[in-house]
Amino acid sequence: MEQKQFQAESKRLLEMMVHSIYSQKEIFLRELISNASDAIDKIYYKALTDDSISFNKDDFYIRIEANKTDRTLTVRDTGIGMTKEELEDNLGTIAKSGSLAFKNEVKMQDGQEIIGQFGVGFYSSFMVADKVTVYTRALGSDEGFKWESDGVEGYTIEAYDKKDVGTDIIIYLKENEEEESYDDFLEEYELKSIIKKYSDFIRYPIKMDITEQ
Ligand code: ADP
Ligand code: MG
Repeated sequence: MEQKQFQAESKRLLEMMVHSIYSQKEIFLRELISNASDAIDKIYYKALTDDSISFNKDDFYIRIEANKTDRTLTVRDTGIGMTKEELEDNLGTIAKSGSLAFKNEVKMQDGQEIIGQFGVGFYSSFMVADKVTVYTRALGSDEGFKWESDGVEGYTIEAYDKKDVGTDIIIYLKENEEEESYDDFLEEYELKSIIKKYSDFIRYPIKMDITEQ
C-alpha cells in the first residue's frame, strides 16, 4: 500500500469542505453523479469510434446504493474508470475545470459562497463523509485500484481486483451532530428528491438500491 500527501491547494479546498457549514451539502451527490456521467460519456464516445470496445446501451448506467447498517452511500458507474496515474492526478491534485475555477477565486471570496457557485467536484464528498473509498478499473487495463482518504492530509493507493471496468465511490457518512444529521442521505425519498433537483438532465439511467438493516 502506498501513502501519498495531497497537494497544498487540495488540502486547502479539502479543509474548507470538511469544516463547511454550507447548508446545501446535498450537492456532493450532484458532483458524483456528474463525474459518473462524464466517465460514461468518455467510454461511450470511445466505443463509437473503436470497434474493439463492445457496446450495449444497457451497459451504461449509474447506480446509487444506500446501506443503512454501514451508513454508506455508493455511487457506481460503468464509465471509463481510472488508471493508477489518473487516480493520483485527478483525485490528488486540483487541475480540472470546476476545481480550477475554485482555485482562482478562492482568494477573493467567502468559502460558503464558493461552494454554492462552482462545481467544486469530487472533494465536496468530504462535506458529508469522514472517509471516501474509490474502487476503479480503467478501460483497457486488467488491473484495478483502491484509493482511500479521510480528506485531511493524504490518501492511500493499493492494487484491487475489480471485476468490471468503471468506478465505485463509497461515501462513509459522518456521525450525526447535534445540529446536523446525515442519515437523510440514506433515505430513498430524499435521494430521489436530490437527484430530481440536480441531476434530472443526466442522460444515463440512475438506478437505486436501498439496504435496510
Ligand atoms: P471535474 O469534474 O470538474 O474535472 P472533479 O473534482 O469532479 O472535477 O473530478 C476530478 C477528475 O477526477 C475528473 O475530471 C475525472 O478525470 C476524475 N473522476 C472523478 N470521478 C470519476 C469517475 N467516476 N470516473 C472516472 N473519472 C473520474
Ligand atoms: Mg466533476
